[in-house]
Amino acid sequence: MKTVAIIVPIFNELETIKIFYNRLKITIDSIKDHSFIIIFIDDGSSDKSSEIIKEIIDTDSRVKLIILTRNFGKEAALSAGLDHVEADAVVPMDVDLQDPPELIKEMISIWHSGIPLVLARRTHRTEDTLFKRFSASIFYFIHNKLSSITIPKNVGDFRLMDKSVVDSVKLLPEKERFMKGIFAWVGYDFHIIDYERPKRSSGETKFKALKLLKLAQDGLFSFSVAPLKISSFLGYLGAIASAIYGTIIIVKTIYYGIDIDGYASLMTVILFLGSIHLIVIGILGEYIGRIFIESKNRPIYLIKKFIENEKQK
Ligand code: UDP
Ligand code: MG
Repeated sequence: MKTVAIIVPIFNELETIKIFYNRLKITIDSIKDHSFIIIFIDDGSSDKSSEIIKEIIDTDSRVKLIILTRNFGKEAALSAGLDHVEADAVVPMDVDLQDPPELIKEMISIWHSGIPLVLARRTHRTEDTLFKRFSASIFYFIHNKLSSITIPKNVGDFRLMDKSVVDSVKLLPEKERFMKGIFAWVGYDFHIIDYERPKRSSGETKFKALKLLKLAQDGLFSFSVAPLKISSFLGYLGAIASAIYGTIIIVKTIYYGIDIDGYASLMTVILFLGSIHLIVIGILGEYIGRIFIESKNRPIYLIKKFIENEKQK
């Protein structure tokens, strides 16, 4: 009998957990000849999310809970789940029911046809705010242009991964975990199923503008050195432009004498080059910061407690 593990990171999801579990239960109970494990990762919730999961654990021995010592972020919580799971396939899911549990059935049957990776793709993003849709499409465009790996559009973390894929994901040692990039980097044959992403069942999104910007930066700078190349490209471009401009000025001075009213052009050039310097230093800083974080070699997350059903132990 094959075992499928569902990994669910949660952060202050008091209202959603029960609804999620009840609907997931209906689905997994209807799938025959498979055993299931549900691992919740409490990513440092300050509400009583863990208490609710403990109640569920008392009634269902398939459910386990990893409590992290603080909020490490969804990417780290997912890693914690992947590190502590023994199963033939793993499905990461959001708890807010934006990833419909009913799709798991289809994912499993595709997996049994020999495809190690089944991705769920949302057909439209009308449930997201205009800002999120706009920023997402810019991110995918820039990322996929610059990076050597292609992140499939509108595919989130919701997917089924065969054990072989999970083991490969675990081989990547980086501490800054940009899961979309890591998932794309490992490769493997995949199949995409489309679904309509519903609205959040309740509560509100944990990914506000700044957090999204950080995620996008992580994605870009962790998986591509193209921004470094852009800076040298800008440098060359600047050099050529100033050589041309310099020649023009020199020729003009030779023919028309010394020109003193060059304030506007001088300021423009200084400001322009100054800002390019700042951009380039910033880009360098992004990479140095990443080297700094990776070189400290800190753990991705810390576990406060691992809870499972007493009867099962
Ligand atoms: N989440 C988490 N840690 C965080 C932020 C979010 O574990 O720091 C979880 C959250 O509880 C949910 C999932 O990640 O299960 C997706 O979060 P959310 O629905 O807020 O993101 P969105 O769907 O808006 O992108
Ligand atoms: Mg959500």
